[in-house]
Amino acid sequence: MNTISVGNISGIVQDKILELHEEPEFQWSRNRTTYRINKEGIPQAKVAIGNVPLDYDLWKGLRNPAVIGLHPIGLKEIWNFYANKRKERVDESGRQTIFQIPRSYEYAEKQFNRAVIISVMLPFSKELVNGYIQTIKDNPYTSSHKFSRMYNDVNLMINKAIVRTAIALVEKENAVVAMDDKTVGAISKEAIPEVRQGVSHGPSKGGNYPQKSIAALLGLGQLGVSRILFRDEIENNIVNRFVGPIRSIVIFDKNDPITDGTNSVMYPTDDWRSFLFKLYDFTNIDKEINNHRFCSLIPHNDGGCGKCISCCPSGALYNSTPTPQGNYPDEVKKQTHRFYNDKVQFDYASCCDDRGQLSTLYPEWSCARCVTICASEGIRRSASIKNYYNKMEELTHLN
Ligand code: SF4
Ligand code: SF4
Repeated sequence: MNTISVGNISGIVQDKILELHEEPEFQWSRNRTTYRINKEGIPQAKVAIGNVPLDYDLWKGLRNPAVIGLHPIGLKEIWNFYANKRKERVDESGRQTIFQIPRSYEYAEKQFNRAVIISVMLPFSKELVNGYIQTIKDNPYTSSHKFSRMYNDVNLMINKAIVRTAIALVEKENAVVAMDDKTVGAISKEAIPEVRQGVSHGPSKGGNYPQKSIAALLGLGQLGVSRILFRDEIENNIVNRFVGPIRSIVIFDKNDPITDGTNSVMYPTDDWRSFLFKLYDFTNIDKEINNHRFCSLIPHNDGGCGKCISCCPSGALYNSTPTPQGNYPDEVKKQTHRFYNDKVQFDYASCCDDRGQLSTLYPEWSCARCVTICASEGIRRSASIKNYYNKMEELTHLN
């Protein structure tokens, strides 16, 4: 039986990534991996785990087409998808029948005591990210097929590794769902009514399940003003910044939710959620909040950052971001159609139009300047990083 702990799950994910190198599509030189490794060549996958009772609403206060969308996938939709794939010939009371019907969520609530959510990031290789930034500095109008290739490789790798990790966690009395791209797409299509998909949900990449927001809720990293999730860590007084694709696993099991932080399994309390709402509202320039942010847009004993905004070629970030003083520029404020309950919708149109046009001309074109400049040169603040992890420790226990 596998222990659900950050240490154990990290070990399984690492093993699955290393195993993948035996497959033809991943037989790169181990000296030149596209994901980040440590000195010993071990993948630096980042893992965060949370657990909640089955009636917990993951998306309370967040349903907004300018934020995560109006109809995000929650625990019930994940269960319904799983139950529909695992239909048994028994009724709700366990009697054998001729019918094959999925088990209801009410059944799941009686059967299982908690849902565990595991969020995993496979960070991009530092060398490739820095190399891309150098390419852009040498010629701001170009792109790099190396970055594009790396992006696809790392995404493919984490998709496979997350499914294999999920397989390793299947036991007699649990239900495990790997939230890789394929499953997220399938749940969005099969467990969400058609009138709640696509633009009726809100701008979304690949379905109704916001992997980055799950990661933010579990404290895997923080969302920057660029809406990219990244993780800062301090090691030997140096700040390391990790950015890369994120996937997750949801497990329904019979254990009671851990509420005291055992095995580094966190409990996302209401206080933690309130803190995160403030943290990700960049119109909130309160110093007390700002000194917990990884993103250094708002000055704090320094000049502030804003590098992602300056290097965005389409202007999408400028058109979606408050100023460091916490106000939207006048030209953004005037676009009232983009605001929903005071939240501005990210300017996908500009971002996708620019990239889309170029990728029809050059299939290996990518932009990702916002991601890479942040990972390579975004201003880091070690005091804020320490403050954030202390706050997380304080607010993610019930006792
Ligand atoms: S580049 Fe700077 S302003 Fe942009 S998200 Fe990163 S830290 Fe924040
Ligand atoms: S991907 Fe490019 S165009 Fe889109 S927001 Fe990032 S930097 Fe701007």
